[in-house]
Amino acid sequence: MAKRISPRKVKIHNQYTYEQAADALGVSVQTVRMWRQSGLPVLDSQKPHLILGFALKDYLNERWGKPKRCLAPDQFLCMTCNAPRRAYGGMADYLPYTSMRGRLEALCEECQGVCGKFASPTLCEELAPVLTIATRNRK
Ligand SMILES: [Zn+2]
Repeated sequence: MAKRISPRKVKIHNQYTYEQAADALGVSVQTVRMWRQSGLPVLDSQKPHLILGFALKDYLNERWGKPKRCLAPDQFLCMTCNAPRRAYGGMADYLPYTSMRGRLEALCEECQGVCGKFASPTLCEELAPVLTIATRNRK
């Protein structure tokens, strides 16, 4: 498993050799060389090869730094499709946990599997124009 790497450890105005980048990020030199294979820009016209801090940071942000997924307000993360999906039939159920928090559940428009996300009554109101939401009270 790839371990999580923090792009924040990279200083954008620095230049790094493979060894320095590996040290700064706590990975092996081999890993940094692999990043080069998979698209990390490296200044290789001279020795030692240098990696510009901002290029390294951009590369890492691209791979690890960004939030996992940004869902549109009317999208759900379908575990089956492993992708953001809209609600099948434009319908969802709201299950309140408290007066402020709850969970929206819908069927995936693609595979009709159950998908859901945390929501609030406010979000439900905002979604009312695009989603028919039935509130289900927990027994
Ligand atoms: Zn699905």
